[in-house]
Amino acid sequence: MKWMRIFFLLQIIVFFPTSGLWAESILVNTNILNVRHQPEGQKIGRVYRGEQFMVLEEQKGWGKIQFQYNQHGWVSLQYTTPLSQHSTIYLQSFCQKLNEEFDQLKWKSIRCRNEDWQANMRSVKGHPLIYTVVGKQSPATLLLCSVHSDENTPYQCFRLLQLLQQQPELLNHSVVIAPLVNPDGFFKRYKTRTNARKVDLNRNLPTKDWRSNALRSWNTHYSSNARRYPGNSANSEPENQFVVELIHRFNPDKVISIHAPMNFLDLDYLDPSKSDQTQRAVLKKAQALAVRVSKESSYKFLNYQTFVGSLGRYGKEWKIPIYTLELPSADYTKSESYFQTLKQSMFSAFNFIIDHRRTAHITPPKKGAVN
Ligand SMILES: [Zn+2]
Repeated sequence: MKWMRIFFLLQIIVFFPTSGLWAESILVNTNILNVRHQPEGQKIGRVYRGEQFMVLEEQKGWGKIQFQYNQHGWVSLQYTTPLSQHSTIYLQSFCQKLNEEFDQLKWKSIRCRNEDWQANMRSVKGHPLIYTVVGKQSPATLLLCSVHSDENTPYQCFRLLQLLQQQPELLNHSVVIAPLVNPDGFFKRYKTRTNARKVDLNRNLPTKDWRSNALRSWNTHYSSNARRYPGNSANSEPENQFVVELIHRFNPDKVISIHAPMNFLDLDYLDPSKSDQTQRAVLKKAQALAVRVSKESSYKFLNYQTFVGSLGRYGKEWKIPIYTLELPSADYTKSESYFQTLKQSMFSAFNFIIDHRRTAHITPPKKGAVN
């Protein structure tokens, strides 16, 4: 027993690296931080206080980040704070808290297990923004649940992961699952659509028209409805920085975001009149998949509008097909029956390649457990 204990201590010493090595993700802690072409090189951009980034490479106190779509640069790490220290302990207590919530909702079929998840970034209130990667084959599908946390959709993501773990042979390609994009809204006594800073995450993504139109359209179209507040600036919220990072890091050929309660399937890609031949071919495939998902799940496929700062509009700009699947209601007692209706169509979607050019080097992330 004594030797076991010594061995265990040695493991902690060997596997518990210093903060520098842990810095897979960072929080900017100065008002404005320059992004440079190379360490100490020419300035090519700026990032701002509160923004979070995954560090792709580290060199003598400098970290390489992706600060815009497909644009990389280096920032001095002395003006940032690493985010993933002690992630094991963090995920364990997070999963425990989440399981208590699942028990409250009588979601007996799903459990949060810390070894299933990875987190490099945190929500406004400090909850880990969890995700996992299943399979190695590119292109990947990105699956998001609970962007709006009053819609009770995390069940679908947790349940799909469970099925993938039970029957890995069902999956031919990889899928990146982020089951709880807005944890702060989910843990509120009365679950909220918005995050802890009262921002509607689906109006805060950095679409090109955000600066000129987001607040104006909120005032005119929504009469400043608090449920749709887009925030003070584009991509100001860590939960959205997380989504953007996942998109840029895994380069998915489609994103599926599960919402409720409008009961339809929507596809946003690009305007065919403004696209080239390759994009039109991608659109055709994306539509074929939508028809198939609609048939297998019985969700009506329709062309719903996009909004300033929404994921649909972001996908149109970056040419990534975005599927929004709206469950018929936010009734959490029906989650399992909704899952049964849509599970087959989700697997069809995961295995359907829309854009074979969207390859990425996909390595399943390190899981939470290191000790
Ligand atoms: Zn929603």
